[in-house]
Amino acid sequence: ETLINRIAAGEVVERPASALKELVENSLDAGARQVTVRLSGGGLDGIEVTDDGCGMRPDEIALALERHATSKLPDEHIELVATLGFRGEALPSIASVSRLTLESRPRGADAGWRRVVDHGTVTAEGPAALPPGTRIRVEDLFGKIPARRKFLRSARSEYAACLDVVRRLAMARPEVGFVLEHDGRRVLAVQPGDSLPHRVAQLVARELADDGVVIELERGAARLSGVAGLPTFNRGVADHQYLFVNGRPVKDRLLVGAVRGAYADMLARDRHAVLALFLDIPPEDVDVNVHPAKTEVRFRDPAFVRGFIVSGLRHALDSAGQ
Ligand code: ADP
Ligand code: MG
Repeated sequence: ETLINRIAAGEVVERPASALKELVENSLDAGARQVTVRLSGGGLDGIEVTDDGCGMRPDEIALALERHATSKLPDEHIELVATLGFRGEALPSIASVSRLTLESRPRGADAGWRRVVDHGTVTAEGPAALPPGTRIRVEDLFGKIPARRKFLRSARSEYAACLDVVRRLAMARPEVGFVLEHDGRRVLAVQPGDSLPHRVAQLVARELADDGVVIELERGAARLSGVAGLPTFNRGVADHQYLFVNGRPVKDRLLVGAVRGAYADMLARDRHAVLALFLDIPPEDVDVNVHPAKTEVRFRDPAFVRGFIVSGLRHALDSAGQ
């Protein structure tokens, strides 16, 4: 059991940022309105995610830490993307390669419960004092797996990857408030109930708030929305493209290529478009399960998706530029 968990863990959890992504996605799935992330040493020394979501009872806590114990298994495949997680392996995987402390209190319960799992073994359990919601702390990640630990980068680059995860999820969910602290310093705080352009502007580029081109397009059952920077104020950074498929942050080659195609001839060679783009298409037209880290997608009709983005985005930029 533990061996299987450790093998699977390598797929789901490659580094602090991938563990963080799973934890924050769970908070969002739990209906949180506020998510607070505390990191130390770029997440290598500790990751803590606190939310005000639905919480778990003691029996649900035990279940959540067992393999394939998802509460989100869909009846039909179409529901697969309705919630961000559906595999039921993130928590047990993380708990098999770290010391994980899970504390949770359902709304309406007058106390919380804590369970500590140290590299796959339950080491402590008992009552916990916390407000309604869930707090999960991950320490000593890969501490007993030197082969993995060796491949981790510096605290600085692990921190950068964690910041990127929080940014993308915060952008995908402007209705949720996010706080990120690193080594005791607050590095990001956005209020719940933001509009998308305001949220994107706060997280990426202030210019987008006033001068960004707001995209709102439909073609058949597909929808494209978001905010895109005009070529005039785009920058020399490739990192500021935030792409989402059905609400899920992705880094997909086809989408990146389509964006480049839309801006072709508009941008100087050393400039990059700053944008946040949300593609919503029927779940049966996309497979989000290509990669365990779930950032790559496979489209049933790639040519349609590419054409929709290139022509839609280009049209929006052209009309804004006039
Ligand atoms: P999945 O998200 O794929 O279901 P996970 O291993 O990530 O699998 O989580 C297992 C289960 O634990 C979830 O299905 C959910 O019921 C519960 N859970 C995890 N995190 C939270 C949270 N922050 N708040 C409430 N429930 C949670
Ligand atoms: Mg999950």
